[in-house]
Amino acid sequence: MRIQTIRGFRDILSEEAGKWRYVEDTAREVLDWFGFKEVRLPILEKTSLFARSIGENTDIVEKEMYTFTDKSGDSLTLRPEATASMVRMFIQHSLYGQPKAAKLFTIGPMFRRERPQKGRYRQFWQVDAEMFGFTHPLADAEIINVVDTILKKLVVPDYEIHLNSLGCQNCRKAFKKALQLYLEDKYNELCPDCQRRYKSNPLRVFDCKIATCKEALKDAPLITDYLCSECQTHFDTLQSYLSHLGIAFTLNPYLVRGLDYYTKTTFEVIIPGIGAQNAVAGGGRYDNLIKELGGKSTPAIGFAIGMERLIPCVPDSIPQKRPIFLALLGAEAVKLGLIWAKALREGGIWTEIDYRLGSLKSQLNRANRLQAAFTLIIGEDEIKNGKAILRNMDTKEQINIPVAPEQGLNIVLKILGREKVGRD
Ligand SMILES: [Zn+2]
Ligand SMILES: [Zn+2]
Repeated sequence: MRIQTIRGFRDILSEEAGKWRYVEDTAREVLDWFGFKEVRLPILEKTSLFARSIGENTDIVEKEMYTFTDKSGDSLTLRPEATASMVRMFIQHSLYGQPKAAKLFTIGPMFRRERPQKGRYRQFWQVDAEMFGFTHPLADAEIINVVDTILKKLVVPDYEIHLNSLGCQNCRKAFKKALQLYLEDKYNELCPDCQRRYKSNPLRVFDCKIATCKEALKDAPLITDYLCSECQTHFDTLQSYLSHLGIAFTLNPYLVRGLDYYTKTTFEVIIPGIGAQNAVAGGGRYDNLIKELGGKSTPAIGFAIGMERLIPCVPDSIPQKRPIFLALLGAEAVKLGLIWAKALREGGIWTEIDYRLGSLKSQLNRANRLQAAFTLIIGEDEIKNGKAILRNMDTKEQINIPVAPEQGLNIVLKILGREKVGRD
C-alpha cells in the first residue's frame, strides 16, 4: 500500500507555499516595524508545561494534545500553542527587564488532535508574538495594532476585532461565584463535560460548542459586569486608544478563549462568512502566568495568527515572477551558458536551463512551459559570430546581444530590469 499523510495532516505544495512565504514575510516585516525580535523554539516540550499553563480542565489539555512517553520515561508533548513555550524560554533564560527581549515572536507549527474539518488541521501554523513586562493598556493597544497592521498590509477584507476583559483574580472570583450559582439552576441542560467543569472552572462552559450549552448560557452573568475599578479603567483606556487609532472593535462579553491563563484583555479577529472556524487571530493578557510557572512576577500580553485560516482570506495579488531561460546548443554553448547563468543568478535573476539539452524546439517548449519572459539562445553559430539571440517570449521579438557575458550581461540586466523579470 502507498504511504500517505496522517489524517488531519497535509502537504503544502509549492504554489500554495509561495503564498505562505509572502504572508510570513509580511508578518515579519510588520513585526520588525514594531520592534519584535524573532526567536525559534523547540516543538517538543515537557507535558507539565502545558498542563500547568493552559490548564488541566481545558479541551486542549484534556483531549487534544499529542502526548507520549519517551524512552527515558518522560512525558513529552508536541506543543499545542506557542505562548507556554515562550514563557518557559523567558523564565529559563532570565530575560527580565531586557529591552531586546521585551517583544518577541516566533513562526512555526503547533499540534492538536482535534476532529479534522474544513480549515482545521492537526498540524497548524501560527505567527505568535508576545510582549513581556508591561502593565499599561498601551501595550494591549499596541498588540492589537500589530495584528491590525498585518491584516491591513495583507489587504484581508471584512475582519472584525472582538474584544473582552476577563478581569483579574479579584474580580473574577466574584464573577465565578455568580456564574456557578447561575449554572447550578441550568445543570440538567448542560452537556456532561460542562456538568463536570462548572464547579472547578465555570468559565470553560463559555467555550462549549454544543447548542444546548450555548442556549443555557443565554442569560448568564457577564464578566464585564464584575470588573473591579482597576480592570475597568484598564479596559476603558484600551478602548480609547483603539478608537484613537481608528481601529474598529466589537465588545464581546462571551469571549473567554479556551485557555486558563488570560487576565484582563482578550481579543479575537473574526472573519464572518468563512465557516465555523472563523477566528483568524486571537490573544490576550496573562499577567500571572510567568509567576505561576516559577518565574518572577511579570505581566505579559500576546497574540497568535492562524496561518491556515488567514491564508485563504488573503487576496492573490502576489506579483508572479518569471525566469530567463538559456537555450544552449552544443558543448561550447553549454560551458558559456553556465557562466551566463552564474552571472545572471548573482545579479538576482531567476535563470533556468533545460538539463536534458534537447533540440532548440524542445528547449523553447520548456521555456514556454516555465513561462519564461526571455530566452537567451546560444549555439555554435552564435559563438562564431560573437552574438547571442535574446528572444522576448511574449512578443517573439529577437535582438542580438554580445555572446560573452563580460560584454552582454549589463545589456541583458538592463532589459530584464525594464521588464521586471525575475525580480520582485
Ligand atoms: Zn480586576
Ligand atoms: Zn457543554
